[in-house]
Amino acid sequence: MKSYERLLKYVVVKTPSDEKGETVPSSKCQFTLADMLAEELKSLGVENAHVDDKCFVYGIIPATPGHENATKLGFIAHMDTVSDFVDQEIRPVITENYNGEDLPLGDSGRVLTVKDFPHLPALKGRTLITSDGNTILGVDDKAGIAEIMTMIERLRDEKIPHGQISVAFTPDEEIGTGSHSFDVEHFGADFAYTLDGDGEAEIQFENFNACKADFEITGFSVHPGSSKDTMINASLVAMEINSMLPGCETPRGTENYEGFYHLTNMTGDVSHAELHYIVRDHDANFFEARKRTLQLIEKDMNEKWGEGTVKLTISEQYRNMAEIVNTCMHLIDNAKKACENAGVAPLVLPIRGGTDGCQLSFRGLPCPNLGTGGHGYHGPYEHTTVEGMDIATNILIELVKLYA
Ligand SMILES: [Zn+2]
Repeated sequence: MKSYERLLKYVVVKTPSDEKGETVPSSKCQFTLADMLAEELKSLGVENAHVDDKCFVYGIIPATPGHENATKLGFIAHMDTVSDFVDQEIRPVITENYNGEDLPLGDSGRVLTVKDFPHLPALKGRTLITSDGNTILGVDDKAGIAEIMTMIERLRDEKIPHGQISVAFTPDEEIGTGSHSFDVEHFGADFAYTLDGDGEAEIQFENFNACKADFEITGFSVHPGSSKDTMINASLVAMEINSMLPGCETPRGTENYEGFYHLTNMTGDVSHAELHYIVRDHDANFFEARKRTLQLIEKDMNEKWGEGTVKLTISEQYRNMAEIVNTCMHLIDNAKKACENAGVAPLVLPIRGGTDGCQLSFRGLPCPNLGTGGHGYHGPYEHTTVEGMDIATNILIELVKLYA
């Protein structure tokens, strides 16, 4: 079976995770796909495949004879999707011999445009897979699952020698809690790759350092007609705080390795205001400097408006996995070689976000991220190609061969 055929089977099983869910997994529907995947692993000869009570699917494929001492590699993809655009049934649409131009998505009124997705002309001639425009497609990350499954099938059918291989399909990646319950020891790999990137041949091992920064501002409210030199308007103090941050260091104004402050939410009246930011930077020193800037603003504002006016709370979120992967760069070198062996040029790109792999890296399982061939994630414009998924699968096979 080809990878895209598996994808078409998986995407119709809807698996949105639930940000408000308090259980693990956050939504029950993820078990439906997990059970299906465990059965499929068993049918491919992965005898110990199972779903645990937290909805993680694990399986280990023993090394072929003579390769027992090879590096134990792992492959991971997530089963959940975002919870937006999943109200209707998911109906994949296949466009053969795609012309590389703007493509209306079903009768949804939405159009996949070259303006929004400039890589589209490069997909000309391929078989494009989209949704009908009313829902996500679910390529993120069911393409990764499909490619891992197809790799297992091909290793068996083509009798490709390999070391021990661990696979895991995980819940709740989209809400950032999935890797917390990942059992690294049970997984049993020395190193792993997540398949959760975009285009095929993408290799990612540098993600952001990340924290949240919350300002709480307490004003002093008096009658506006008689408040000369007494009123402290919390909302105005909030605006003053934001104006002290460099205006270009926002998500809109930055790319590649440039960090930012992102105001995600604000509320305010005279007596009380809040500013909620997320702060991101690949460079650990710059990241620390950003936090110090925020602390300095807190100090300055309190000196100006009175102690206790401004309270800043910084909560750490995740760190750049490059810190860990830099000590085992064979993961990146071999991934590049695998791309070349599969006939595509590797593309090493920084991640402007985090992945499950970055948390796993800091828990002892170094875990860079590979592309699946998909694009336009987290909305009705998600798409992939049959050819891109085939290449991504070939890269996995080449990687396994290199480590055997
Ligand atoms: Zn994903």
